[in-house]
Amino acid sequence: MTKYDYNIIVIGGGSAGLVSSYIASAVKAKVALIERHKMGGDCLNTGCVPSKALLRSAKIISYAERAKEFGFKKTTIEFDFKDVMQRVQNVIKIIEPHDSRKRYTGLGVECIEGEAKITSPHNVEVNGKTLTARSIIIATGARPLVPDIPGLNQIDYLTSDNVWGLKALPKKLLVLGGGPIGAEMAQAFSRLGAEVTLVEMAPQILIREDEEVIEQVTKTFIKEGIKVLTNHKAKEFKHNTLICEDKGKDVSIPFDKVIIALGRKANIEGFGLEELGVKIRDTKTIEANSFLQTNIPSIYVCGDVTGPYQFTHTAAHQAWYACVNALFSPLKKFKVDYTVIPWATFTDPEVARVGMNEKDANIQNILYEVTTYDIDDLDRAIADSEAHGFIKVLTVPNKDKILGVTIVGRHAGDLIAEYILAMKHGLGMNKILGTIHIYPTLSEVNKYVAGNWKKGHLPIFAIKILEKFHRWRR
Ligand SMILES: Cc1cc2nc3c(=O)[nH]c(=O)nc-3n(C[C@H](O)[C@H](O)[C@H](O)COP(=O)(O)OP(=O)(O)OC[C@H]3O[C@@H](n4cnc5c(N)ncnc54)[C@H](O)[C@@H]3O)c2cc1C
Repeated sequence: MTKYDYNIIVIGGGSAGLVSSYIASAVKAKVALIERHKMGGDCLNTGCVPSKALLRSAKIISYAERAKEFGFKKTTIEFDFKDVMQRVQNVIKIIEPHDSRKRYTGLGVECIEGEAKITSPHNVEVNGKTLTARSIIIATGARPLVPDIPGLNQIDYLTSDNVWGLKALPKKLLVLGGGPIGAEMAQAFSRLGAEVTLVEMAPQILIREDEEVIEQVTKTFIKEGIKVLTNHKAKEFKHNTLICEDKGKDVSIPFDKVIIALGRKANIEGFGLEELGVKIRDTKTIEANSFLQTNIPSIYVCGDVTGPYQFTHTAAHQAWYACVNALFSPLKKFKVDYTVIPWATFTDPEVARVGMNEKDANIQNILYEVTTYDIDDLDRAIADSEAHGFIKVLTVPNKDKILGVTIVGRHAGDLIAEYILAMKHGLGMNKILGTIHIYPTLSEVNKYVAGNWKKGHLPIFAIKILEKFHRWRR
C-alpha cells in the first residue's frame, strides 16, 4: 500500500482551509495547511471583519446625526479618518489569534508558509519540497474581479483588497457595483462624510433581493445622500471620470477615488490545476461533485474557489464535507447539503435571508404563500427608534412548511437565526408561535409573523364548533 506524509494537505488558510484543517486535526488526522500570505484569508484581512468594523464606526456617526430623535439637542462627532481606519486594523489584530499559525499549530496542524503547487494527484510542492498526502483540499478562495474597462489600468483604483489602507477620506467616491460589497462600502463611506455615487448596470442594486427589500435600502441610501445610479453601464475611465451609458446616452461621473466592487473571481490559476486537468466550470470556479470532489478523485475543494456561494459560513459548511469525505471516503461519504443557506447584507437597514424569496420561487415556479409583519409596530423597535423594516415568510400553501424568510431591519442577520434553525430541523410557524420570546426584544418579530400566519390558517370548522360550545356554556 502506498504511504503518504499526510492524510490531507490543505491549500489556503482562509475560512474554508482553516475549518478543513481544524476538523482533520480534531479527528487525529495528520494535516498540513499551506498559506502563502495571511492566515484568515479574505474574511479576516480584507472582507467580513474590516467591512463590519468600518460599518460600525459609520453607524455611530449616523446615530449622532439622528441626535434629536433620541432626545438630544445636538451631537457632533469629531474624528480623523485615519483613526477610524486604525480601529479597523485594531479589530483585525484582536481577532487574528483565532486564525493564527500559533493556534492551529497548537491544534496539531502543521502550518506551512509558502505558495503551494499541486504536481500530481497526491503531491504538493511548497518551498522547494514535495509533500505527499492521500487527499488534497483546495481552498484558495477568490479575489476582486477587475474587468477590462478601458482606462481603468491608468488610474489608481481601489478594491476590497486595498481599500483598508486608505489614509484620507476621499471627497468624491465612486463605488462601481451595487451588490452586497458595493452597497456596504457605499453606505460606510457616505456616513463617514464622502460624497458617494453608487453605479450599477442592473436596474436595481442588491438585485437578488425582492422588490420591497431593494426599495427600503435604496430609499435609505438616497435619503442619506448617496447618489444611486442604476441602469448605468460603465464604458470608460478618463482619468478621474467614469463615462457610463444610460439609455443610450453618455453620462460623466467625476470622482477622487473609485472602488471596484463588481464581484469576485476564483483563484484557479498558477498552482497546477491546468497541468493536472482539474475541471473548471464556465463560471471559472473549480467543478466538484456533490461530495465536493473534483474530477481527480484525491482532490477535494471548498469555499469561494468552487462556490456557488461566497460567504464565510458557506465556506466553513463546505469545509466539513470536503474534509470528512477526503478522510473517510469510500468508507463513508456525505453529500453537501445546500437546502438551508442563510446570508446577510450589513447595510442599514440590514437585510437577512434564508431559503427562497419571491424572486427565487417565481423563477422556479414554486407555489407559495406570503406572511409579513412590519417592524414599525414592534415595541422594542419603537423604543430604540429603529421602527422600520419587515419580516416576510414564504410557506407552502396550506401547509406549515417554511420555504424562506427575509428580514429587513436592525440586527436582521441575528434575528434570522431562529428561522435558520426552524428550516434546518423542519419546524414550522406553529412551533415558532408556541415558543416564548423575551419582551421587549427584536426577536418578537419572529413570533408576530408566525401569529399573522396563524390568523390566516385558523381551522374554520373547529372555530365554528367552539363558538357553538361557548354559546351553550353561557
Ligand atoms: C469586502 C468583503 C466583505 C465580506 N463580508 C462578508 C460577510 O459579512 N459575511 C460573509 O459570510 N462573507 C463575507 N465576505 C466573503 C468572505 O470573505 C469569503 O466568502 C470567505 O473569505 C471565503 O473563504 P475562502 O477560504 O474560500 O477563501 P479566502 O478567504 O480567500 O482564503 C483563501 C486563501 O488561500 C490562499 N492561497 C491562494 N492560493 C494559494 C496557493 N497557491 N498557495 C497557498 N495559499 C494560497 C490565499 O492567500 C488566501 O489566504 C466578504 C468578502 C469581502 C471581499
